Amino acid sequence: MSHLLITGASQLLTLRGRVPRRGKTLSDLSILHDGALLIRDGVIAAVGTRSEIESLPESRSAEKIDAGGRVVLPGFVDAHTHLIHAASRAEEYELKIAGASYEEIARKGGGILNSVKKLRAATADALKKRAQAALREFAAHGTTTLEAKSGYGLDVASELKLLRLHKELSTEQPLEIVSTFLGAHVVPAEYRRKRAGAEQYIELLTDKLIPEVAAEKLAEFCDVFCDRGAFSRKDSKKILEAGKKNGLAPRVHAEQLTRTGATQLAVQLGAASCDHLEQVSKADIRALAKSNTVATLLPGCDFHLGMKRYAPARALIDAGAIVALATDYNPGTSPTMSMPMILSLACTQLRMSPAEAIAAATINAAYSLRREKQIGSLETSKQADLAIFDVEDYREIPYYFGVNKCWMTLKKGRPVFQKAHT
Ligand SMILES: [Zn+2]
Repeated sequence: MSHLLITGASQLLTLRGRVPRRGKTLSDLSILHDGALLIRDGVIAAVGTRSEIESLPESRSAEKIDAGGRVVLPGFVDAHTHLIHAASRAEEYELKIAGASYEEIARKGGGILNSVKKLRAATADALKKRAQAALREFAAHGTTTLEAKSGYGLDVASELKLLRLHKELSTEQPLEIVSTFLGAHVVPAEYRRKRAGAEQYIELLTDKLIPEVAAEKLAEFCDVFCDRGAFSRKDSKKILEAGKKNGLAPRVHAEQLTRTGATQLAVQLGAASCDHLEQVSKADIRALAKSNTVATLLPGCDFHLGMKRYAPARALIDAGAIVALATDYNPGTSPTMSMPMILSLACTQLRMSPAEAIAAATINAAYSLRREKQIGSLETSKQADLAIFDVEDYREIPYYFGVNKCWMTLKKGRPVFQKAHT
C-alpha cells in the first residue's frame, strides 16, 4: 500500500457539497484553510486541516508533498474536446481575421470538411503522437479527465480508427479519456454530391456505425452537431434515439450559430449535456433549468472566432440550470488545452465569479460525464485527481491569463505534471 500526504495548501478547495451545483450553490467551493490530504493507492483516504491529517497514523510513513502555500483543487474535468485531429487550420484563422465568417469558410470546403480530409490522409501513428502532445498540455494546465469526440473521420473506417485511438490513449497515458461518438458532425463531402445523400449518411450512422460503436464499447456518448449547415433537429432526434437504443447517452452541440430547437430536443431526450448555447431563447433556459441536462459553455470558441455574443451564463445560472465549462479543444474554433484560460473568459465575458467558474469546470463537468461519484471534488473515497496552482488565493487562477500558473497535476495520486524549478 502506498500513502501520499499533501500539506501546505493555503486553500484546499474541496468542492464538497451538493451535486450537481445549481444557482447559488455553484459558488460553494467548501474551502479548507491550511488543508491537507492523505491519499492511499491513488484514492483520497482523508481530507481535513493539517493538524487533523498529520496526526493520522498512516501519515507518518507517507511520502510527502509540500504545496508551499499554494492553492490545491480538484483536477479540471474538460467535458467537451475534439482531441484527435491531424493538423491545425491556421490558414483559416487568417481568413477569419480578414472578415470571412465560419459558414463562408465551410462553404468553400474549409472548416470541418477540411479537417476530415486531413484526418483521413493521416496515419493512426501520426494522429496518436499529436494527441499525446496535446494530452501533455492538458495535464500541464491542471486537467485530469477529458471527454473526446470523434467526428473528423465521417466514414466507417476513419471513425472507428479515431474511437479505437481514444481507447488506446486511455490505457497508455495517465489522463482519463471519456469517449463520445460524433459521426453526426457534418455530412461528409462524398454524400453531399449524391441525391438524398444526407439521408443515406444518417442511415449509415443509425444502422451501421452506432450499433458497431456500441458493440465494440468504443464510446459512452453519442453527440450531434445540430445547426444550420450540419444536422436538422429532426435528423438529430433520429440519430440520438439510435444512440440511446444502443446504450449511448446523448450530448448535443446546440444553438451555436443559429437557434434550431436543439436544446429542447436535448432536454426531451434526457441528454447528459447540451453544449455551446450562444443563441438560446428564454424558453430554452427555463427548460434547461428544470432538467438534469448540463449546459456546457464553451467561451474559448467565441473568443477565437471573435464573436460578440457569448452564451448567457448569468441567466442560465440564475434560472437554476446546471452550468459547466469546457475548452472545446479543436483545430477550427478553439485551439486551446488551457482550462485556466477558459476560466478567465468565463469571468470576464460570461460574468461568472471565479468560484462559479471553478465549480463549473470540476464537479458540474464531472456530473455531465456521469462521473460525479469518482471525480470533480476532493472527498474521501474519490480518485486523487488534483491540481496545485502557484497562487495563494483561488481567485488568482482566472485572474492571470495567458500564463500558466499550474505548479503540479496529480492523477490517481501520481504526478503527471510538475513545473520545472526556475
Ligand atoms: Zn465541439
